[in-house]
Amino acid sequence: MQEKGTISIHTENIFPIIKKFLYSDNEIFLRELVSNAVDAVQKINRLGALGQYSGEVGEGRVDVAFDADKKTITISDNGLGMTAEEIKKYINQIAFSGATEFLEKFKDAKDANELIGKFGLGFYSAFMVAEKVEINTLSYKEGSESARWICDGSTEFEISEGDRTTRGTDIILHVNAESTEFLDQWKLQGILDKYCKFLPVPVFFGTKPDWVEEGEDADGKPERKEIQVENKVNNTAPIWTKSPTELKDEDYLNFYRELYPMSEDPLFWIHLNVDYPFNLTGVLYFPKVKNDMDLQRNKIKLFSRQVFITDEVKDVVPEFLMLLHGVLDSPDIPLNVSRSFLQADSNVKKINSYVTRKVADKLNELFKNDRTAYEEKWSDIGMFVKYGMISEEKFYDKAVDFALITNTKKEHFTLNEYKEKVTPNQTDKDGTVVYIYASDPAKQDSFIQSANKKDYDVMLMDSPIDPHFISKLEQKLDKTSLKRVDADVADKLIDKGETISLVLNDEQKGKVKEIFEKAISSANFQVEVDAMNPSELPVTITMDEFMRRMKDMARMGGGA
Ligand code: ADP
Ligand code: MG
Repeated sequence: MQEKGTISIHTENIFPIIKKFLYSDNEIFLRELVSNAVDAVQKINRLGALGQYSGEVGEGRVDVAFDADKKTITISDNGLGMTAEEIKKYINQIAFSGATEFLEKFKDAKDANELIGKFGLGFYSAFMVAEKVEINTLSYKEGSESARWICDGSTEFEISEGDRTTRGTDIILHVNAESTEFLDQWKLQGILDKYCKFLPVPVFFGTKPDWVEEGEDADGKPERKEIQVENKVNNTAPIWTKSPTELKDEDYLNFYRELYPMSEDPLFWIHLNVDYPFNLTGVLYFPKVKNDMDLQRNKIKLFSRQVFITDEVKDVVPEFLMLLHGVLDSPDIPLNVSRSFLQADSNVKKINSYVTRKVADKLNELFKNDRTAYEEKWSDIGMFVKYGMISEEKFYDKAVDFALITNTKKEHFTLNEYKEKVTPNQTDKDGTVVYIYASDPAKQDSFIQSANKKDYDVMLMDSPIDPHFISKLEQKLDKTSLKRVDADVADKLIDKGETISLVLNDEQKGKVKEIFEKAISSANFQVEVDAMNPSELPVTITMDEFMRRMKDMARMGGGA
């Protein structure tokens, strides 16, 4: 059997174009080929389970190997394999049409980067690093013969007899001159770690050393011997694929340590698991951060059916939750389209608001179940909550139930509790409640003390996000204003319109009268001092009607 043919596509020479634009992201060829191999294994498993395959399904596996001398990288699986007819259909027609579609989309894209890595080129991404690709396969179907397909990236292909004797497929890449960097143990290991770490079928890459105890040394102690064992790349059952009921805290912590080896343990986590109206699983962790400056975005890893896609989760989670860590896995997030399309995608929108709601629910639950523990964590979670309240109206509305205000005495209050606490004593003459805060408690200590003397409460607002949080509170809270504790002397911080009322006795009245008379020093005036009430005139100075007229005339006439 030997057949040559031409792949029927409309665009000639598409590979130089694909190569050029995908160059920066060409490592994804391995992700694509390994996930095809995983698919093939899962398909044979399913056929076996459905009774549509009577042969031995066996333990599914994928093997990645390279040969630096021959300049080849081989991806092998014991999946369902392909017949020659299937190669023609799935590889020549379908995979090529995917590549053609890529180019169609590419023509319309304003920014080439938009598409790089976002468009699953699948099988044909192999040509980004290979000058020639070989498929050697044997189908599970009874009576099948092994088939070999060879293509050099032009539209010409060749199909002949293959030499696989067991069910499954080898994809052999003859690495091109520009891509020899991939013929390297650490390079390939790194790519596998990045994209294939949680694939659902075991993936092996060469061997690694291990130690076994064997025999005894002269002192009768067991002797350790180094042996080579298979190097399994992946954890096939990461926790997000399991049900929360089968997991212990330790499992979540171990997984976190696996994802972020150098980080402190997280504060808590949220296990997401929904399959309607979209499918989403994942675990989100609230990291422990020492200060706001340590915050790193894009620590959430996005997967699609356990294949790592990206750690750019913008659009999939709201901005303020990009500070969280963990994984999200959804086959419903369209990963092969451009960013603008992603933003408009209805599933992405739904996922975004679902994640927001889940985070709010979890915080609320923690608050309700154990307020003391929640208050202890507040210094760590407060920043996320405040950031969320500032940036997401919907989150603000939910967070009013569990956002806390801390005062300088380190007491915590919900927003409602705080309002109740300060309203009686901190309402000004116009009915505005005045919240007083310290942004630098050490420096403002004397001001805090004098405010406290007036029984005013002083909120602690000393983190970098607090200035924004203060403006948000001012904007959201009715008839409330926020004043820094040193904005004025304590007496004047809250203008209650109160007045000093005192009543003078006769002796005091006499003294005041004397003072005024001396100051005016004119016999024409009479000074009268009355009981003092600010709404009335405390001191009246009068002049005889006759004298007043004389004076007026003198002013007008210039003479008598
Ligand atoms: P996709 O994986 O999205 O279907 P690809 O371009 O990656 O697109 O692959 C095209 C098709 O080629 C697959 O759908 C599958 O039918 C076939 N194929 C690719 N790799 C293998 C493999 N290792 N074993 C069996 N079939 C394969
Ligand atoms: Mg594929």
